[in-house]
Amino acid sequence: MLTTNCAFLENELLDVARLFKRRPEAIVHKFRFEEGVFYNVFEIDGEKFSFEDRGQVLNELVFKRLERRFAKLRLYDILSKKYGEEMPWGALTGIRPTKLAYTEMENGNDYIELFKRMRVREDNIALIENIIKTQAGIYEKKDDNTDFFVSLPFCPSKCAYCSFITAPIEKTRSFLPAYLDCLEKEISFALDSVKNLRSVYIGGGTPFALDTPDLKRVLSATEKVFQKAGKRVEYTVEAGRPDVFTEGKLRLLKDYGVTRICINPQTFSDETLKIIGRKHTVEDFYKAFEMSEKYGFLVNIDLIAGLEGESVDTFFKGVEKAVETGADNITVHCLSLKSGAKLKEEISYIENTLVSDMVASSRQILSANGYAPYYMYRQKYQAGNNENVGWTKAGKACVYNIDVMEETADNLAVGANAISKRVFTQKGLINRLGAPKDLRTYIENIDGLIEKKRNFFE
Ligand code: SF4
Repeated sequence: MLTTNCAFLENELLDVARLFKRRPEAIVHKFRFEEGVFYNVFEIDGEKFSFEDRGQVLNELVFKRLERRFAKLRLYDILSKKYGEEMPWGALTGIRPTKLAYTEMENGNDYIELFKRMRVREDNIALIENIIKTQAGIYEKKDDNTDFFVSLPFCPSKCAYCSFITAPIEKTRSFLPAYLDCLEKEISFALDSVKNLRSVYIGGGTPFALDTPDLKRVLSATEKVFQKAGKRVEYTVEAGRPDVFTEGKLRLLKDYGVTRICINPQTFSDETLKIIGRKHTVEDFYKAFEMSEKYGFLVNIDLIAGLEGESVDTFFKGVEKAVETGADNITVHCLSLKSGAKLKEEISYIENTLVSDMVASSRQILSANGYAPYYMYRQKYQAGNNENVGWTKAGKACVYNIDVMEETADNLAVGANAISKRVFTQKGLINRLGAPKDLRTYIENIDGLIEKKRNFFE
């Protein structure tokens, strides 16, 4: 569908074309640079378009950045005009617009100008400004800052929209004893790499899919991370789905000093819960929420805009109900269908023009009720080309989420499918090391993985 004389632009240009529901049969792109001018010529379904752009080329890095930026912008402009569609984030296809904004600021540039030029919608520019304000005081770009992540890819059942590696725990329970042995081993070897600890996050899947004694093993092993760091910091357990909450598990978290949990209803409609294959009801969510209240954790609630069959009104009421609970953090996701999700097999493009209205309504209710946006990211194939935004009450923002989204700290990640990151802030370099996704492969290769990780963080 697309040919270009700049190989490194192929995927970038395809990402722009994929923003649109209608797509051309054929795109031919040619780029050349002469005497300070970036020439982009496109031939789209036989029609020719030529553009000339100028920019100050200070070095090779800036040149590549401008080459990419102009080519994407010009293709976006052609397709936007041709199909009469404008995207919420214009020609920006990267997953982290705030990271781009911070980089521009560090380089002494005006990110607002850039965002306008890339056709980002006004309300989204305002969103970025608000996020940067909320993150002030937590955002910290410094070598040796470390976040610690423990992966528990187990769930009670598989949700229809989920592309994560998790499988229903009945199918994976037999791996659990060996998996926990490996986690304990990995954690004890990872301790030497813990530097300036900022946060600890035990994530899923659904960590509460584990029985209390198994969960206790994970918490007890993770305790060594705090001892090694010589301090207590924000400690999240992404407990997960309400149907697996028990008093015993919550008390255990309290005993181990957990400060933040996630209770994820996803929607406040029982009908939708059935459609997406979650084996719990809205009532179960309220029970889990009430059960958790006496322990004094900060609580995050996840909601998803764009779930099958939901109207703007259903979603709007869901956000209102989430606000009524008084949760400290509310994260609004927009449905994203990647390969691996059952729904993806049935739908190839998320035909949901209502999602933008849902997002707008959530922004309005949350802002009106004292929540501020504090982190965001975008995913490919996201409904309506929108974004996921974490909202927080004043002073309750999650350090881990900010560090991960802005990529400002090392991520020392253990477990299957955990991706460790080494961030060299001075050099502007980020290295990644992924662990095997599959439980069996992870378990069988644990010693090699520990060794690799040791070298990686050396
Ligand atoms: S609970 Fe979360 S991780 Fe587990 S299947 Fe559902 S969406 Fe996927």
